[in-house]
Amino acid sequence: EEHRPNARLAGRRILVTGAGAGIGRCTAGLFRAEGAAVALLDRDAAAVEAAAAACGGAPVVADVTDAVAVDRAVASAAAALGGLDDLVNCAGISRPGRVEEVDIAAFRQVIEVNLIGAHAVIRACLPHLRAAPWATIVNLASGQGLVPAGPSNAAYAASKGGLITLTRSLAQEFAPLIRVNSVCPGMVPTGMTAGRSGDGRQYALKRNATPLEVAQAILFLAGTDSAFVTGIALPVDGGRTFH
Ligand code: NAD
Repeated sequence: EEHRPNARLAGRRILVTGAGAGIGRCTAGLFRAEGAAVALLDRDAAAVEAAAAACGGAPVVADVTDAVAVDRAVASAAAALGGLDDLVNCAGISRPGRVEEVDIAAFRQVIEVNLIGAHAVIRACLPHLRAAPWATIVNLASGQGLVPAGPSNAAYAASKGGLITLTRSLAQEFAPLIRVNSVCPGMVPTGMTAGRSGDGRQYALKRNATPLEVAQAILFLAGTDSAFVTGIALPVDGGRTFH
């Protein structure tokens, strides 16, 4: 697995949430390799400090469900980078289980993090993004938000369906100044999916995705290569949904 850097994000100032681990951490590293200045946000202070040190970014600590902490963290990220051109919302959680197994508090927590948390970060970043010459937002949704698979992940699927629709709505609201898109990965072995990722045989491509393969799709939507693309939900799922 290889990535050939090409300065695709030179000069850009980018905030990545959920950047302490998994896809977010990989994305922050890829964006640094492509020449961007990056701030990494996560609720896990030790993880985000290690991730930021590894890629040469600026760590900020906040739980995306705490709007006051988000405002503070976004302000300090913008101060560290001298503004913000792009936002990638990767912070997310999953609470698999059948309806009887997932109580209302757990369901609400999934919506709070995956949907309302993304919205809170977008709101906090908006003045900075509006001040940028052109700006992008990329939301990490999921193939589950397009076509739910399996019998027991309803809270997660609902939160990601909501995030896809939020993306489409804000793409219209923020046009033409800010492009807003979502990425819909299939299974990616990370901490979130540990112990239940399987071997990916259900996908047309017969394997799971790597974090880098998802990060490269995020790079496409955050960069100028996608200059006429807004409001989409891009599947990166090895041919599961065919959307
Ligand atoms: P991960 O668990 O490896 O990383 C998620 C990161 O988000 C962690 O560092 C965690 O601390 C952080 N986070 C969680 N809740 C937070 C909160 N309230 N505030 C701030 N930070 C918080 O997960 P991942 O697999 O890298 O997933 C990243 C995104 O991609 C998520 O939105 C996830 O739903 C989505 N996604 C993942 C897969 C997959 O198979 N792994 C598939 C489709 C979509």
